[in-house]
Amino acid sequence: AGPTNPQPYQDAYSGFTEYVLSINRPQYPSANEMYLKEQLRSLIDVEIVQRIQPSRVIPFGSLVNGFATANSDLDLCILDDSPNPRYKIKTELPEVLAAEFERYGFEVKLLTKTRIPIIKLVQGPTAQFPLGLAMDIGFENRLALHNTRLLATYSRIDSRLREMVLFVKHWAKVRGINSSYHGTLSSYGYVLTILHFLINVASPSCLPNLQHIGAQVPVPFEELECEGYNIWFFKDLTNIPPSLNRRSIGELMAEYFSYYAQFDFRNMVISIRTPGGLLTKTSKGWTQALDRVGPEDQKVRSRNFLCIEDPFEITHNVGRTVGKNGLYDIRGEYMRASKLTRARDPRVFRALCEQR
Ligand code: ATP
Ligand code: MG
Repeated sequence: AGPTNPQPYQDAYSGFTEYVLSINRPQYPSANEMYLKEQLRSLIDVEIVQRIQPSRVIPFGSLVNGFATANSDLDLCILDDSPNPRYKIKTELPEVLAAEFERYGFEVKLLTKTRIPIIKLVQGPTAQFPLGLAMDIGFENRLALHNTRLLATYSRIDSRLREMVLFVKHWAKVRGINSSYHGTLSSYGYVLTILHFLINVASPSCLPNLQHIGAQVPVPFEELECEGYNIWFFKDLTNIPPSLNRRSIGELMAEYFSYYAQFDFRNMVISIRTPGGLLTKTSKGWTQALDRVGPEDQKVRSRNFLCIEDPFEITHNVGRTVGKNGLYDIRGEYMRASKLTRARDPRVFRALCEQR
């Protein structure tokens, strides 16, 4: 069950709130869809992966963090802790499994030039998934499991976060600015922009900074480090008081759009970890495109037009896929959204989510 809010939100933007919810409602995934996806995960785990090599198949991403929409993809991570695996997890196993998935009738694409190997599976329409289903299977992507948990915890603190995320994901999709493969930003990146806004910009703040509050005293058995990064965050939700910010979802959305319409993307880095929420590109050394040599000797280009610091892997710019044109489009869309929401007229803001 979601958190209960002690008093109704202020209502100055009730029309816009209603519009946001009317966009979101048809996208809530049904309990049945969640169940079917878990069944599919289990089939992949038990029938396919375990037969090739004992390992763990763990869901992450929107299916776990509460931000799933109907027909959203299934993100899975394969971990192998055994000292002597049959196939090496990052080099051999992805190829062997890709071939195996093909035998099972999936459409398979193996990406090895990415930071971690990824198998992209596509299943055509079936009785269970009439619109087909996309899956991303990553190998040894441990930090993603932790950032999924952080997002899941934030989403349990305040129910407005999930509504904002669903709306922004939809808006970004229909406006063509939600594709890391085409020079814009991933859903994960947009979620971080919303968290930064709710933690650091909304006043009073809607969410505490979970990586900063509390005495930072770990509870026994709590993992503190992953791949050399600090992954601690405050997890005791019973000790987080409800926010004093009672603004409606519509008003917060309008403030979110106007904040990013004026954001100094040229100099600043969005950070949810840092108290205050902002860093300069100079302080991070993120001032120009960086090339590094990736796994197969290919060049991996990290651009620094739009900078969002990953909450745990703080050397990683989540916005590195955004190109110059991508940033231009994203800014343009924030400005357009800000203008349309300010109109506070249903006939005007309905244009917000028109397909571009
Ligand atoms: P969607 O419903 O659009 O698939 P999602 O919430 O699953 O949204 P994705 O962008 O697919 O979001 O990301 C899934 C997970 O992959 C995230 O929770 C995060 O752990 C990881 N991830 C995605 N993009 C990045 C990135 N640029 N850097 C680091 N981790 C990322
Ligand atoms: Mg996903």
